[in-house]
Amino acid sequence: MNEIYLDYNASAPCDPRVVEAVAKAMTDGFGNASSAHRFGRRQAAAVSEAREQVAGLVGGQPGGVIFTAGATEANNLALGGFVAPGAEAQGRALPTVVASAVEHASVGRTAEALAVAGRCDLRVAPVTPGGFVDLEALAGIVQAIEGELLVSVMAANSETGVLNPVSETADLVHQAGGLFHCDATQMLGRLPFDMSALGCDLVSLSGHKICGPTGVGALVGTREAVASMGPTVWGGGHERGLRSGSLNVAGIVGLGVAAEIAADERAAEAERVGILRDRFVAALQGELTDVVQNGDVGQRLPNTVNLRFCGTDADAVLVNMDPVAASAGSACSTGAIEPSPVLTAMGLSRDAAFESVRFSLGRFTTESETAAAAEHVVTAVRYVRHMTTEAA
Ligand code: PMP
Repeated sequence: MNEIYLDYNASAPCDPRVVEAVAKAMTDGFGNASSAHRFGRRQAAAVSEAREQVAGLVGGQPGGVIFTAGATEANNLALGGFVAPGAEAQGRALPTVVASAVEHASVGRTAEALAVAGRCDLRVAPVTPGGFVDLEALAGIVQAIEGELLVSVMAANSETGVLNPVSETADLVHQAGGLFHCDATQMLGRLPFDMSALGCDLVSLSGHKICGPTGVGALVGTREAVASMGPTVWGGGHERGLRSGSLNVAGIVGLGVAAEIAADERAAEAERVGILRDRFVAALQGELTDVVQNGDVGQRLPNTVNLRFCGTDADAVLVNMDPVAASAGSACSTGAIEPSPVLTAMGLSRDAAFESVRFSLGRFTTESETAAAAEHVVTAVRYVRHMTTEAA
């Protein structure tokens, strides 16, 4: 039985070209990138090249790239680093963090934890039924805030693929005198993204979402944003003093190569994958009744579709469509009994959210795979609907 992987938004397979670069970095290179001797300098040179490659993918400056252990840590650093200078201890007003209601848990929970610890005030910006951040509501929130402000709104949602109005959000935040952090983890490598043209001050990204290694990512900031932040990991002062720890050179090399490939191949890949995604959805809707797409279908990632199979339990569908891999809710909340907070924030009922499955395609997805996957899904949905009616 051929396994079919349609869960790229959870983690994408590592590109063989990246694997080769990582293996080479691990065998040829050793030594600490901070060491002054020739071994260390070689490692530092490899890291510098990766900084250029990552900056190239996001439209930032190589000097603003802070390597981390993934997007979770990058998001923690963005928010924690913003409140770190300790405004309260210095007699300044408590800073405010505003996050959209559909941010990844590494933004949402970090913001909550910082607020509970008394390090910031937290405001949550609602989203529209289409899944976009509600700009009018956000404007109302930020205009009423005095003092330091950081707003965090993701570029593309991991569960629905819906694209936020990043440039408009950045303008609004800057008019209110705030810093704008954008979690672009799902957007990068799928659609064009240029942080300086869009007006982002801080951008998070992750290796394993762009066919690179897991456990490596980056926060990319403008010079001013990086200079205004404090550390969240203390030690030897690596990465501009914001994230100490000997650098994971092989992982960073892999992230750099993955970023370069993503920048080069993004346009062709997005077009090819978008066609496959649309054919997949058409095949399902041709065979099944009551299949609803969640989130705006016009403004979303080309690789993602979130489908509600009315009258089914998503987990039952997932189990019955094996060997096709997809997910219900975000992978990070799998196992939780709560419905997807992203879908409920968009106004879906608990029941509707529990009926929804996310399919996400990518670089190595083939046409025969999506055709076969559609057949498996149709059979699974029919079976689950049949069993549900029998049981009723
Ligand atoms: N942000 C978004 C939007 C994500 O989709 C993810 C991964 N699910 C993360 C952050 C966390 O990334 P990582 O796995 O690298 O910690």
